[in-house]
Parts: sequence; structure tokens; C-alpha cells
Amino acid sequence: MERIFLRKNLPINEEIPLNLLIEAPANLYIDYLQSLYIRSLMLLLIIVLGSILIAKFISRLLVKPILNLATFTTNLPDKLLRYEKIDLPKVSVKEMNILAKNFEVMSETIERNIQQIQQNNQELTQAKEIAETANRAKERFLANISHELKTPLNSIIGYNNLIKNNLIRFNSLNSSCQSGLTEWLEIVNQNGNYLLSLIDEILDIAKTNAQKTQLSPAVFHFSYFIKNIIKTTSIKAEEKNITFRYETSGDLPTSIYADEKRLKQILLNLLNNAVKFTNQGIIKLKVERIDSLSSSGSNTLSQVSLRFSVIDTGIGIDSRNISKIFQPFEQVNKLESDNAGTGLGLAICKQLVELMGGKLDVQSELGQGSTFWFEVAFPEIKITSEIEPTSVREIIGYSGKRLTLLVVEDKQSSLSLLMDLLEPLGFNIMTAENGQQGLQLACQNKPDLILTDLFMPVKTGFTLVTELRQEIDFKQLPIIAISASNFEEIQKQSYAAGCNAFLAKPIDAEKLLSLIGKYLDVEWIYRCNEEERR
Ligand code: ADP
Repeated sequence: MERIFLRKNLPINEEIPLNLLIEAPANLYIDYLQSLYIRSLMLLLIIVLGSILIAKFISRLLVKPILNLATFTTNLPDKLLRYEKIDLPKVSVKEMNILAKNFEVMSETIERNIQQIQQNNQELTQAKEIAETANRAKERFLANISHELKTPLNSIIGYNNLIKNNLIRFNSLNSSCQSGLTEWLEIVNQNGNYLLSLIDEILDIAKTNAQKTQLSPAVFHFSYFIKNIIKTTSIKAEEKNITFRYETSGDLPTSIYADEKRLKQILLNLLNNAVKFTNQGIIKLKVERIDSLSSSGSNTLSQVSLRFSVIDTGIGIDSRNISKIFQPFEQVNKLESDNAGTGLGLAICKQLVELMGGKLDVQSELGQGSTFWFEVAFPEIKITSEIEPTSVREIIGYSGKRLTLLVVEDKQSSLSLLMDLLEPLGFNIMTAENGQQGLQLACQNKPDLILTDLFMPVKTGFTLVTELRQEIDFKQLPIIAISASNFEEIQKQSYAAGCNAFLAKPIDAEKLLSLIGKYLDVEWIYRCNEEERR
């Protein structure tokens, strides 16, 4: 048995040290201590377990509603868009309830907004459909009206030119009568062409606004192109007694790959404006090469950047009006003359220059003059053999065997014009009023070339060409489409049907003969040749 000894000092008498020794068993104390130890351990365990349970309870109380709210708000707009039923979680904590309520209000607002947006979208889609239908109707109307206007204009301009070119044959007229008539015919010609340009401008602005204008680039002789522009402008400038100058800088390309018709349209518009708004001084066309790139070798493609400037010393434009002039139908300097314009020219030019990748700019001072300019990069074509420009000499016939042309056209005036233009040159002309007749005549007589209108009753030109191309005999036959509907889609459709070329009305006699010459390989006889022979 373990014992413990307890010593106790008894300070009764300082002089006599007295020690009291008590012997007692240790077990009693050790057991007590052990039970104390076990009890405190158990208490600690209970405290730990209790705090875990309390923490769990509190976390359940706080975190669960937060988690519920998180689930409730995740992809809330999506759920609202899918019309999913979403129940707001019920919570016992007051603050959480307030938060949940706020979310509910927020979700209701979002739902209302989404419904509003969806309604607006529906209205917008409907409005867009209505606008597109109206646009299509407008395009159809413009296409039809332009066709209707251009067809009689085709005859007016065509016959006018025929009379003018053949005036020399009217021997009964004395020279003063002839020169008077020439002058009147020139006035008819100018006004006819002015009317034609107005129709084209209105069509152009409608097409560019609908973003339907496409460029049709091709290789053309740049210096001849510029020469033609100079010639046209010089005549107009001379009429107003203004000096016209052409300036260049840098090595200008011989040929470029661009949309010749559109580039000409831009330059002539700027130059015509310069002539129109200048009463004295100078008008200048400046063409500068602004890049230093140049590649060697033949038939290679490289970029050439050109700056075109049209400078005048005319009436100028007030700085407050500068931005207006590029908007359709805006005219800031109203002219009294008959050909004052429509205010569409610059709006079209601006859009065409942008379509070419450039920007049309202007600098002007009231009473001092204006400068319009733009910079565009074109592929430069280096061809060793120069492209010959089309001859401007008058064609009076051709050498070789007599060729037969079939003209399919429902409008009597257009038909007569083509006959009057082609028969005197020595062609044998067959005529048909529609595609059906044209098909029969072609099968019976095997013409050398067909000229066909596209929109005709009974059978259209498109069907005629498609059916002819299915016959082995007509696979290679040259067919030229002629139409007053000068839309890119119509041109494309005519090529898709099998036409070799497309010619817009009013017919440009020079272009028509150049196409006939190309497809039939004819050797033309020119007026000067005959005179030389005589
Ligand atoms: P239009 O010449 O048919 O009126 P444009 O669109 O070509 O239409 O020109 C719009 C307007 O810009 C003109 O009416 C004129 O007021 C002004 N303008 C254009 N070019 C010049 C210029 N060279 N000098 C002065 N004003 C000009």
C-alpha cells in the first residue's frame, strides 16, 4: 500500500522545533483526482459537441436562406424569359425575409421589363417587315417607272441622234436651215439626256439608300477615260467662257481595274457642279498619284492610289452649309436655270466614293471657290499591248458577207429605232414581237446574232434565251440583251439565262455596234474610209 507522509511545522515554541508526521493512504486522493479529470474531460466533450450543434443550427438558420436566394436569383432573367415557375423561399429570419422580398420585387420588375422589351421587339419586327415590304414596292415601282420613262426616251434620243447624223443627206435643206436644225436637235438631245440623268439619279439614290449599289469593276484605259472627261467638261466650260485646266502629278497608270461608269459619274458630277457654280475664273481637274508603289513586269497587278481634285473659283459654299450639301435633295445655292439639278448628285457621289473605299471631302470659301477631292486605290493593270479605246469614227457599213440579225422587241418605237440604225449599215434584220415569235424565227432562219428585249408579253427574253441555249444549234449564238431596266439583278439574270452581253436603254449606238463588231468579228467601214476611197 502506498503511503504519503504529511509534515507539519508547528510554530508553538520557536525554540523547540516540533514536526508532526501523519501517515495516510494515497489511493483516496488519486481516485479523487482521476474522477475530477474524467469529469472535466466529459464536460469539455459536451461543450465541443454542443457548440458544433449550435453552430450547425445557426448556419442552417443563416446560410440556407442565402443559398435558397442564390438558387432563386441564378439565371433569373433566363428563367423569366422561359416563363419558368419560380417560388420565393420562405425564411424565418426577419432580415433574410426582407432581402427575399426585395428580390421578389426586383424579379417582378425584370419580368415586366422583359415583357415590355418583347412587345417592343414584336412591334419592331412588324415595323421592319412593313418597311421592307414598302421598300420592295418602292423598288418595283422605281424599276417599272424607270422602264416606262426610259423606253420612250430611248426613241427620242435615238431618233434625234439619227436625224442629227444624217442631216447631211437632206439635200433640199440649205446650210442655214441645216445649222438651225442641228442646234434644235442638240437642244432636244441635251434635254433628253438631262431627263435620262434625272431618272438615273433617282434610281441611284434609291439603290444606294437600300445599299443595293454594287460596283462592276473592269479593266479600262485610264488616259482615254480622262481624255473623254476633259473633252466633255471643256465643251461645257467653253459655253460659259471659263478656263478649264487639267493637271497631273506622278506617274499615272495606263490602265486600271475599276468601275469606269461610276468613276465617270463621280468626276462628271463634280466637274458639272464646278461649271454650274462658277461664273468667272478657272476650273481645274487634278489627278495625282499619291503612292510610291510600283511593280515591274507585264500583266501584273499592283495597287495605285490616286487623288482626284476638282477646283473652282466659283461662288463657294458657306461653312454653315458644308455638311448639308452631301445630304439628298439639299441645294444651298439655288440656281434659276432650267438644269439647276435635283440636289442628289453629291449624295450619290459620296456614297459611290465610299463604296470604292475612299472619302469625298470639300473645302470652300464663300465668294472664293471650292475644292472637292477624294482618294481611291485601284489595282493597276500593266499590259504590254495597250487596250485600244473604242473608235469614235462614224460607222457606215461593214465588209464581208451580209449578216442576219434577229431583233426581238415588243415596243414598236424601240424596234423601229434598231432597224433604222442597223439596216442602213447593211444588216438583214428580222423582227419578232415576243419571245415565242423570236424562238420560231430563230429556229427557221438561224440568224447570226440576236438582240432581245427582256420583258415582253407571251414569252419573256429570259425564257427565250434559256430555251435557245438548250438547243445544240444555238449554244454558241451571240445574244445581246437590251433593256430599260438597268438593274444589276436584271443584268445578272440575263447573263444567267445565257446572254453574252447586256445593253441598257436608251441604246448607245456606239456601244451596240462595238458589241456587234466584237461578237460577229465584223470589219467596219468608217465614213472617213469611204471619203478617202471616193
Ligand atoms: P445639284 O447640283 O443637283 O443641286 P448636288 O448634290 O450636286 O446637287 O449639289 C448640292 C448642292 O451643293 C448644290 O445645289 C450647291 O448648292 C452645292 N454645290 C455643289 N458643288 C458646288 C460648287 N462647286 N460650288 C458651289 N456650290 C456647290
